[in-house]
Amino acid sequence: MPAKKSPAPIKSASSRKAAVKRPVKGAGPASIPAAAVARAAGKRVKARKPADKATITEIFTRFRAADPEPKGELEYVNPFTLLVAVVLSAQATDVGVNKATRALFALADTPAKMAALGEDRIRDMVKTIGLFRNKAKNVLTLSQILVERFGGEVPRSRELLETLPGVGRKTANVVLNTAFGEPTIAVDTHLFRVSNRIPLALGKTPLEVELGLEKVIPAEFKRYAHHWLILHGRYVCKARRPECERCIISDLCTSPEKRV
Ligand code: SF4
Repeated sequence: MPAKKSPAPIKSASSRKAAVKRPVKGAGPASIPAAAVARAAGKRVKARKPADKATITEIFTRFRAADPEPKGELEYVNPFTLLVAVVLSAQATDVGVNKATRALFALADTPAKMAALGEDRIRDMVKTIGLFRNKAKNVLTLSQILVERFGGEVPRSRELLETLPGVGRKTANVVLNTAFGEPTIAVDTHLFRVSNRIPLALGKTPLEVELGLEKVIPAEFKRYAHHWLILHGRYVCKARRPECERCIISDLCTSPEKRV
């Protein structure tokens, strides 16, 4: 299969960092959300309401204006290498995964080549990534399954993707969106936090948030919605100390953790 590249140029980590103002030094530890304080004091906390349709449209209009064709940060050359990269990225950084996969994908960019490498070789090439033993096993087995059952192709179906070892709903959604252009929303820890903070869709589980977002995000934004939200969570709306002072949607956010 010819190498598949995403349509947009990759924003380098350095260019993205360059656009990021440093947090204010000495600003103190992360604040405790007001709602948590109120709950601890036994006070009743008013249920939060998700943003309305006009607000959600405005939020995504701003994200699109700032970064029209956002990309994930994992490196890949075709749907198969994207699938492997996402499987390897569980509880690991994209930067760490990319370091290992550059050499791995130079040797094996198809399921047949990966299966031919064998478990020991794969394990040795990904040993810098957390949980590498189990991940190497999964990469080998999923490659063998792709060869034996899917003619060496990555299936374009969430149900079929989820039959592969190491592939859950989130990984399947990333592959469907990034490799095949499907408007799926992969809810990772960043997206889960951002959606509940703004809030776009409230939920106690990633699946609740995913299904909620499916309903409220206008169709025109769905293709890139998960990239915008993940990048926003990773670089601006951070877990411990959201950088609200440089957030482009701060006037539309009703989070009790908002700092401006
Ligand atoms: S204002 Fe703050 S809490 Fe709200 S989305 Fe922006 S960074 Fe996150």
